[in-house]
Amino acid sequence: MQFQNFLLNFIIFVKMKAMTQVHFQIMSKNHTFLPYSSKSKWSAPFTFIQAADTQYGMIDALKENTSSEYNWDKEIKLTEKAIEIANNLIPKPKFFIVCGDLVNAYPGERLKASQIASFKQTFSKLDPKIPLICVCGNHDVGNYPTSKDIQNYRKDFGDDYFSFWVGGVKFIALNSQYYFNDTHVKEYSQEQDNWLKSELKDGIDSNAQHVMLFQHIPWFLVEPNEEMAFYDETKKGSYNLKKELRLKMLELFRSYGVTKIFCGHYHRNGGGFYQDTLEIVITSAIGRQLGDDKSGFRLVKVYPDRITHKYLSFELFDPKDPFLKL
Ligand SMILES: [Zn+2]
Repeated sequence: MQFQNFLLNFIIFVKMKAMTQVHFQIMSKNHTFLPYSSKSKWSAPFTFIQAADTQYGMIDALKENTSSEYNWDKEIKLTEKAIEIANNLIPKPKFFIVCGDLVNAYPGERLKASQIASFKQTFSKLDPKIPLICVCGNHDVGNYPTSKDIQNYRKDFGDDYFSFWVGGVKFIALNSQYYFNDTHVKEYSQEQDNWLKSELKDGIDSNAQHVMLFQHIPWFLVEPNEEMAFYDETKKGSYNLKKELRLKMLELFRSYGVTKIFCGHYHRNGGGFYQDTLEIVITSAIGRQLGDDKSGFRLVKVYPDRITHKYLSFELFDPKDPFLKL
């Protein structure tokens, strides 16, 4: 009898495991994004979706150790809403990029694996014709990442920095944690820097129609000369990046013709311009809000001579919004 019970429980366990295991194909490899790894020429205007901070677990985070009701059902529902809207957009967006803080648990935290499994499960509902692109945030690799943290992220999601081409436009995704603090990962950080310089040069040499960047932490929130904005007195984390490094990097990006850097991390919309030509675009969260915005994502439209974008909140989403048309 005992053995039968054991067998029954074992079968239930195996079934549950099979249900929760989703095939998630890692597509950020060899510092490119496989579906868009080959260089291309401009053909026609297109759109893409830029989102950030799905951050499974943040809404209920304060309840984590105190309540049995702790879960991330609210983030799942919000992400499902994002996917439902994305799947119905015409024209079909070329990709759906999440600029970091995919889940709330930091590396090594108890719920990391189940939040990641849940994130992958939800995104399996995204139309396969709209590839999901993941960028890492401070919650994904840690505020002070170690090589183990980076390696674990790569195992779960693929490369932490990579580039790709869509219709003659060059896109570069960066790991902004190396700019926040690279104390334990100097070699990785140096590798990204060297790689980045050759990628920027390639954008010019290959006559890219536009060059755009994606990263989690924004270089600045409002204007390039602002001070660092720490979350609190412990200075463990900040909303923007160090001023000296920021000004050096913004000038580098500008000199290579980068016109947009899309970010997240702030859980509010924000951004501004560096030298009139380089725009920092901060997109609020799919998950928890910290300001007055509502959960949403940004639709970006790419034309030969310009790039326009609009934040669309799920709650106020209007399928007849004229911005949805190219
Ligand atoms: Zn963040």
